Amino acid sequence: MRIISFSLKTRVRPQAQLTIDTRRIPNPYAIPKLRPLNGTNPQVQNWLLEQPGVQTFINKAETRIRKQQPTVVAIGCTAGQHRSVAIAEILAQRLNAEVEHKNLKTPNKKPTTTQKGLGHIHQTQRRRLLYNHKNGTPCWWCGQPMYKNKNQNWDKRSLEADHSKSRRDHGTNQLADRLLHATCNAQRGAGDKDNQRPALGTTPPPKPKPTTTRFTWTDKK
Ligand SMILES: [Zn+2]
Repeated sequence: MRIISFSLKTRVRPQAQLTIDTRRIPNPYAIPKLRPLNGTNPQVQNWLLEQPGVQTFINKAETRIRKQQPTVVAIGCTAGQHRSVAIAEILAQRLNAEVEHKNLKTPNKKPTTTQKGLGHIHQTQRRRLLYNHKNGTPCWWCGQPMYKNKNQNWDKRSLEADHSKSRRDHGTNQLADRLLHATCNAQRGAGDKDNQRPALGTTPPPKPKPTTTRFTWTDKK
C-alpha cells in the first residue's frame, strides 16, 4: 500500500482508490514556530496529535483504509506541507505502508533520521526485526509459524512489524518490537480485540480472504 500526500490547490490529483481531505483538522501553519517546518517533523506531528478530534480523525481513516484495503490512498490539505504530510506519515507507520509527498517543498537541509518521519523509522525497525527473525516462530495473534519467505506464510504475505503495547493504550510514539503475519497485524488493528485473538483458542485461526473488488471512494465535501 502507498500513501500519497498532496496539495488540494493543484489540479493534478494522485490516482487513488481513496482520497482523504484533512482541511477540517487544526492547521500547524497557524502556529509561528511550526510554520517553517513540515509534516515530516515530529514537532508538527506531535502538535497535531494533541489537537482535539485529530486522534479520532486518524483512527477513523485507519479503520476505513483497513476495511477497504486500497492500493493507493491520497491525503490532501491546502498546500500539501503540514497536515496531509503529517497524517500520511502517521498512517503509513500504523499501516506499514510506503509514503510519498507529492507537493512537499524540498527542505534545504538533508533531513535527519527523526525528520524523515515515523514511516521511515518503522520501516527500518521492520527490516531489523526481519533480519533477527527465526523461521517458524509462532505468531502472537494466530499462533501459526512465521517465515521470512512470504510464500511459506499461511497468508502468502510478508511479515509486518507490530507494537506489543497496543497503540490504543500506549499511543503511537513507540518502536515496533515484534513481527506478525500481515493479515494478523491488520486484524489486530489498534489492539481493541487483543483478548479475542485466535491464538487463545476462543476463535478459529484466520484464513486468507478472497480477492475483493476495488471501488473508488472520495470523501464528500
Ligand atoms: Zn498470525
